Amino acid sequence: MTFVPKDWLPQDDELGGKTILVTGAGDGIGRAAALSFARHGAEVLLLGRTEAKLEAVYDDIVAEGGQQPGIIPADLAQTSHDDLMALAAELSKSLAKLDGLLHNASILGDRKALAQTSAAKWHESMQVNVNAPFMLTQAVLPLLEQAPMASVLFTSSSVGRRGRAFWGSYAVSKFATEGLMQVWADELGGIGSVRVNSLNPGAVNTAMRRAAYPAEPPDTNPEPAALMATWVYLMSDASSGLNGQALNAQG
Ligand code: NDP
Repeated sequence: MTFVPKDWLPQDDELGGKTILVTGAGDGIGRAAALSFARHGAEVLLLGRTEAKLEAVYDDIVAEGGQQPGIIPADLAQTSHDDLMALAAELSKSLAKLDGLLHNASILGDRKALAQTSAAKWHESMQVNVNAPFMLTQAVLPLLEQAPMASVLFTSSSVGRRGRAFWGSYAVSKFATEGLMQVWADELGGIGSVRVNSLNPGAVNTAMRRAAYPAEPPDTNPEPAALMATWVYLMSDASSGLNGQALNAQG
């Protein structure tokens, strides 16, 4: 967590006045991030494929006294460019700007040797983990550009920085995520108000981690909620100097 200043603590209203869209907001890290952003004053837009989970997060935010969130049911494995452009057009009717975009939703895909990975599973991982974040960023860019300081955060992984056997399409999709982040950051950084970074959460106790490491005791790893100061920092104006960085939340 070296990039977060040692003495930095978020103010209660650190994200006040900001609207932040979180993908995969129904569970795991995305759920914790949405709750944390709302606790720090943001209006959050909850995008995910399981509406009941988004509604549960909505209820938790409202019960805590947070701003009423928006719910965007969307299966990123199925969404087309046209769907996401339509979503952005719909958002533009009620939003003057978008201050943050957390690309968090991902799937593990086949945990197999590349030689055994099915083409269909490969395409699905690329669609959810890479194509959809590219298309969604492009669609909402005009709204991001209306914000005084917008933050786009891609979610990476250690296997997106060093390839590892049997991580297949997931690892390759995370390398592509880093590439996407770097190109957006180089195109947008310095000329406008949108900054773009990637964050590797490290090992976190979520459904994805438990699926990837079934033999590991779940309490080996921190709960998502314990790490959220880093996500809040990256959505806050406090991190406005960061652009094009591949960051680590732990270690
Ligand atoms: P989870 O599987 O716990 O949560 C992922 C979320 O993404 C879920 O809410 C899921 O929806 C949603 N999602 C998955 N597919 C789609 C889709 N097609 N359309 C819309 N939403 C979708 O994962 P984590 O919280 O662990 O992971 C969050 C991010 O962190 C991912 O990008 C992951 O790669 C990364 N990461 C996680 C690590 C860890 O140790 N946990 C380590 C390194 C990186 P639903 O609930 O309906 O399934």
